[in-house]
Parts: sequence; C-alpha cells; structure tokens
Amino acid sequence: MINISGLVAGVVRWAYKSGITPGIDTRGIPSHECINCGCNVFEIRAGFEDYEISFWFTEGRCAQCKAPVTVPTPCDHPDFESEDVYDYESDDE
Ligand SMILES: [Zn+2]
Repeated sequence: MINISGLVAGVVRWAYKSGITPGIDTRGIPSHECINCGCNVFEIRAGFEDYEISFWFTEGRCAQCKAPVTVPTPCDHPDFESEDVYDYESDDE
C-alpha cells in the first residue's frame, strides 16, 4: 500500500531542494494563512528593536509547503485606521 502523505512530503522536499517552488504562487494577496495548505507560519525577513519586531518584508514563503506568499500588514486590514491620522472633525469647535 502506498503512503500518499509520505509520498507528497517527499516530493515537496525534493522540489524544495531542487529549487522548484511547489504550490500556487499567491504573492500579491496578503493573507494570514497559506492558500495552498492552510499553514499560518511564514518564513520572512524582519528587523528588531527593543526585542520586538519593528519592521518586516512582505515577501515570504509558507513554512510548510514553501509556496511564495505576501504576508499581511496592518494596512491590509479592512477596518485599518492609522493612529497617526489627524482628526479634522473634532477640530471644528
Ligand atoms: Zn503552505
């Protein structure tokens, strides 16, 4: 009997080592989850300040299936409001 999940994992490892990108290229669609496999862990480049992430690059790849992804930022949230925006309406008095 064939172990399908083991076979798929082996193919993904082989493709990764060979420089072939498995999965669908979802760059350009910021998401919290990989659209290919549902994993929510990504490999990204980030910078730190005071022991916290201070910036990150939006290009990355899924930690599980290695598909290229665009990781989200606060600006990608539908209800995003910057705290730096001046409130003109409260200044009418
Ligand atoms: Zn994935």
